[in-house]
Amino acid sequence: MSGFDTRAVHAGQAFDPTTGAVIPPVHFSSTYAQDGIGGLRGGYEYGRSANPTRSALEEQLAALEGGSHALSFASGLAAEDALLRAALRPGDDVLLGDDVYGGTYRLISRVLGAWGVGVRVVDMRDLDAVATALAERPARILWVETPSNPLLKISDIGELARIGHDAGALVVVDNTFASPALQQPLALGADVVVHSTTKYLGGHSDVVGGALVLDDDALAEQVRFVQFAAGAVSGPMDAWLTTRGIKTLGVRMQRHSDNAAAIADFLVGHDRVTAVHYPGLATHPGHEIAARQMRRFGGIVSLELADAASARRFAESTRLFTLAESLGGVESLVNYPDAMTHASVRGTELAVPATLVRLSVGIEDADDLIADLDEALTVL
Ligand SMILES: *Cc1c(COP(=O)(O)O)cnc(C)c1O
Repeated sequence: MSGFDTRAVHAGQAFDPTTGAVIPPVHFSSTYAQDGIGGLRGGYEYGRSANPTRSALEEQLAALEGGSHALSFASGLAAEDALLRAALRPGDDVLLGDDVYGGTYRLISRVLGAWGVGVRVVDMRDLDAVATALAERPARILWVETPSNPLLKISDIGELARIGHDAGALVVVDNTFASPALQQPLALGADVVVHSTTKYLGGHSDVVGGALVLDDDALAEQVRFVQFAAGAVSGPMDAWLTTRGIKTLGVRMQRHSDNAAAIADFLVGHDRVTAVHYPGLATHPGHEIAARQMRRFGGIVSLELADAASARRFAESTRLFTLAESLGGVESLVNYPDAMTHASVRGTELAVPATLVRLSVGIEDADDLIADLDEALTVL
């Protein structure tokens, strides 16, 4: 197979055979002419079941994660929902990492909970705790997110896949933070990769989407049935924007990682900052595992300040870093998780420190980003 960046540019992106257009056209048609009843050209019948622009994105996603099947959805949570509904039955449990994306916890506890699905949380860095939790009560799904959001905890995908499989669980990895450019969970033993393509894959903060990538043919068929039957598909324009973003994923992740590393070093040396969470730091507790399972350490850095008031003031004082939810775009963003992205998990087992600020480091000049943070730290 060709290299990652070659696949990112070319998989699913052959030029249009009728016109030679180098960029394949975006197919907006909701329905397809039939050559006699049931005579489909290329299998396309109706836009919910399949669309050529979405198929191109799915082929590209499968190639990036090294999976046999990829499915594209209207959002990351729509992708998660389809997977969970395909894999779970009433009475089943999901064992979640204790600082996964808050929306994942909310979806399972507050939506699927009403259909009899249980959720338990555990620190996924503690392999003994995971094995014990699975031994106490089986879980149908072991749900891992690494690096995690917003504390950048690192868990060992290979070890968790082994422990999960020994206990008969399906091992799912949310790979949104690393992206396939930095980490490929299927190769490490995971069964399913989940993405919010809204983040690094789209990469430009202009499209909401989600994806699943997996190898198992039977599970892929079940998930594709839910995608078709429940209908949370990505629209053609969304699929095309995601495809366009993906072509530059490799170079963007290099730059995000370079800038984040420079910012983490700057923050570590600043006397107002009480903690810095970045897996690239040698002092990070998951540094060695991250160095083994990731190519680079990614673009998210979290920091802690003396108290909640300082954290809030800092988050409101930057200029280049825009105060906004989400992450993974070319522009830098700052977020105060306790009252923004993680407000829904306040008071639960997934609550985050009120002293924490999360940075999504963009691809601007590192010197300008550091000057902006330095200025915001001086107003504290
Ligand atoms: C944003 C995000 C999601 C949810 O994706 P949406 O596209 O917002 O639905 C899931 N997991 C992680 C890690 C995320 O950052």
